[in-house]
Amino acid sequence: MSDDQMDTGRDPTDEEFLEAERIFKLTLHKQKKHPSAVEANRKKLSHINTYGGLPEFYVDQPFECRSCGKREIWKAADRKWYYEEAKGHIDAKAVECHACRKAQKSNDHKT
Ligand SMILES: [Zn+2]
Repeated sequence: MSDDQMDTGRDPTDEEFLEAERIFKLTLHKQKKHPSAVEANRKKLSHINTYGGLPEFYVDQPFECRSCGKREIWKAADRKWYYEEAKGHIDAKAVECHACRKAQKSNDHKT
């Protein structure tokens, strides 16, 4: 996933994070009606082969970095970009924060 795209949820306040968490736990039906939901373009998801069905929309996805525990939000718009433009895998999840992914990258460059 690109560093340039996934930066809007980089430093959420506690309030923003808890709100994202609350929305993320709602039923799909309620999420879909929520103003923060971003509609999916299914035509752009044709690269995805899944028996689980394609998403109709995206919501912000809160997560804790698996390396340092920092809380960040993978924003709905960034997820849309990742799946639809970067053709990412639909099961992909954000697992590391911005700083850790950056550190990882510069480590790769050293070798
Ligand atoms: Zn981290």
